[in-house]
Amino acid sequence: MRRQMLDVLACPEDRHAPLELHVCSESGGEVEEGALYCTKCSRFYPIVEGIPVMLPDGLRDAELDSGFLARNRASLPDKIRAR
Ligand SMILES: [Zn+2]
Repeated sequence: MRRQMLDVLACPEDRHAPLELHVCSESGGEVEEGALYCTKCSRFYPIVEGIPVMLPDGLRDAELDSGFLARNRASLPDKIRAR
């Protein structure tokens, strides 16, 4: 994900923007793995293999979320956690 994408991404639950970007790994100027955090509702959205996964609650993949958090806990702030 290129950082400029932050300009067009909004929280799917409340449309809040901009989201906070927390980078876990980066390559060639693109965020490979990281989290987008909504300061309004405290949800996070994972960036996995360069793709931001921006899904509302009903469509979230709990396994993807828990795997993401387990892999990246050390490089993410405490506020980024499963709900
Ligand atoms: Zn939100």
